[in-house]
Amino acid sequence: MPKTVLIVEDNELNQTLFVDILESRGYLTLRTPDGVTGFEIARARQPDLIVMDIQLPAISGLEITRWIKSDPLVAHIPVLAVTAFAMRGDEARIREAGCEAYLPKPVSLAAFLEEVESLLARSPSRAGPT
Ligand code: MN
Repeated sequence: MPKTVLIVEDNELNQTLFVDILESRGYLTLRTPDGVTGFEIARARQPDLIVMDIQLPAISGLEITRWIKSDPLVAHIPVLAVTAFAMRGDEARIREAGCEAYLPKPVSLAAFLEEVESLLARSPSRAGPT
């Protein structure tokens, strides 16, 4: 059964890029430009992986990741952060929020796919239908 990746990204071009590359590799995708909606989709649809933009309007991707990692329903889902502002200390803050991995923007597609595959390989399968 194909794995599902939720993309939380407010930049339309990046969102389309992630969707296209993932779908070309046979993954199913869900997408939203909004963090709160992303959190709700994650709870309702139980994706296998979440790609999280850190710079989101209103509530940052770091905060949304903290919600995810504090919620037993979705805490197990790996979060791959993508961020345009990789500065000293950022990686620590991103890890502290609970993200399993992060990639700086502009994201190299090869690195992106490698990270996605690696995170999916170690994520446990779903227990059953939800
Ligand atoms: Mn953004």
